[in-house]
Amino acid sequence: MTCLYCKGTLENKLTNYIADLGNSIIVVRDVPTQVCTQCGEKSYDYHVSVRLQEIINQVKELVSGIAEVTYSDAA
Ligand SMILES: [Zn+2]
Repeated sequence: MTCLYCKGTLENKLTNYIADLGNSIIVVRDVPTQVCTQCGEKSYDYHVSVRLQEIINQVKELVSGIAEVTYSDAA
């Protein structure tokens, strides 16, 4: 697969996803991500982005302020 923006090569990496919700910030660690080696653009598989959204929805009900979760640990 190549980058949508610059046609560079995508590399699989674990990165941190940060969701800024205004009154809280949720950091999800070690998210499987495809990162462009050329421009650094990040993209996520469909199932990963769905999962991320689920994690964020769960965590934001429980925490205010800054929360950190690890992608693979999230229930
Ligand atoms: Zn790129």
